[in-house]
Amino acid sequence: MHFDLVIIGAGAAGLFCAGQAGQRGLKVLLIDHAERVAEKIRISGGGRCNFTNRDVGPANFLSDNPAFCRSALARYSSQDFIALVQKHGIAFHEKHKGQLFCDDSSDQIIQMLLKECAAGGVERWQPCSVQELQTLSAESTEASAARFELHTTRGQVRAHSVVVATGGLPVPKIGATDWGLRLAKRFGHAIVEPRPALVPLTFDEQAWAPFSALAGLSLPVAVSTGQGKVKARFLEDLLFTHRGLSGPAILQISSFWTEGQALQIDLAPEHKLLPLLQSAKRESKRQLGNELASLFPQRLAQAWLERLGLASQRPMPECKDKDLQNLAQQLQAWSLIPNGSEGWRKAEVMRGGVDTRELNSQNMESKRVPGLYFIGEVVDVTGWLGGYNFQWAWASAAACARSLHAN
Ligand code: FAD
Repeated sequence: MHFDLVIIGAGAAGLFCAGQAGQRGLKVLLIDHAERVAEKIRISGGGRCNFTNRDVGPANFLSDNPAFCRSALARYSSQDFIALVQKHGIAFHEKHKGQLFCDDSSDQIIQMLLKECAAGGVERWQPCSVQELQTLSAESTEASAARFELHTTRGQVRAHSVVVATGGLPVPKIGATDWGLRLAKRFGHAIVEPRPALVPLTFDEQAWAPFSALAGLSLPVAVSTGQGKVKARFLEDLLFTHRGLSGPAILQISSFWTEGQALQIDLAPEHKLLPLLQSAKRESKRQLGNELASLFPQRLAQAWLERLGLASQRPMPECKDKDLQNLAQQLQAWSLIPNGSEGWRKAEVMRGGVDTRELNSQNMESKRVPGLYFIGEVVDVTGWLGGYNFQWAWASAAACARSLHAN
């Protein structure tokens, strides 16, 4: 059986690429080994799919080759995807910082992508695994225009082009594999070391003991890591957990954090704490615990006073200047070193992947193997939290589909 295009992976990027290519007149086969289609879209955004962000630019992405994503993002923007969502009559809303979510359910995005595939006459084999993928020699390609032969659990197929859209390593229980990375390596591609990103961070059990009672507490913070040009800083909510820290602030910074590096957390980013405490010492007769509880959640205020050995009942005028300085410093420049992350099980995305220096940024084609393409999360382009990873899936898929022609 011959296809113009075989796409491996029916997730966000694979489905979108299949629909677009099919509608350009290509005969497309889409293969996925999982029982259910696009499980990551289904579970995304708490079931409502944060499908894009109103404000997307290369600065919202991490990569060893930061300029690579520029062209694809410029040529298929979030406005383009929003227009498609509107064309399909899907109601959506903006939640926070430009993040767009379905009003109803992420299943609407899956149904939309399946309709786009149907409009392009895409054939989908699912569940189906690819057992072998070979390039064909130049002589055998002339008649059929086939450059690849694939042995699958549903039979043998030939294709002019192959797109790898097998995604990243997070959440193995719903079908994530390293198949795409292994294939890329087999064809001589370099891989930027994959590691979990947008993931909760963990701490040494003993060091975390004083904070574990704060599990469930959430507050807005400023978190940063790194120095100079590689310093990252986010103003978002932080969530205490039994084993460490989570919430949008930590998920964001986790993508930038490397082993052994410290995080700096300002637990009161809206205030200059020391002058506030000093003026309270002069003017207020309240106790230290009550003063602090007017600025922070009670549990947090109590935990910090206990950590620093300060009596919460001490009247403000009797507090020592150096204790107030230490308290302000600890609350506004809390420095701590995670011992790891919650790993692939809890990560939302993979940092690293197929090195983009060997891909064409206009169409995602391999510079090593003509006709072989890599799109979506398998590529070393990782978005921030906030709809950016789906926008990369749509944009890289569109760049690829736009360059393909029927044979
Ligand atoms: P995927 O969507 O993961 O699709 C890859 C497909 O390839 C899968 O269907 C898989 O079954 C298939 N596959 C894998 N290996 C093989 C193989 N060997 N053979 C055949 N098929 C294979 N991003 C956002 O922008 N907004 C969000 O709200 C958001 N929420 C998220 C919530 C969670 C819990 C998680 C885990 C991720 C979330 N993401 C979100 C990230 C986003 O889901 C991914 O970046 C995006 O799905 C990547 O698209 P993709 O097509 O490259 O990969």
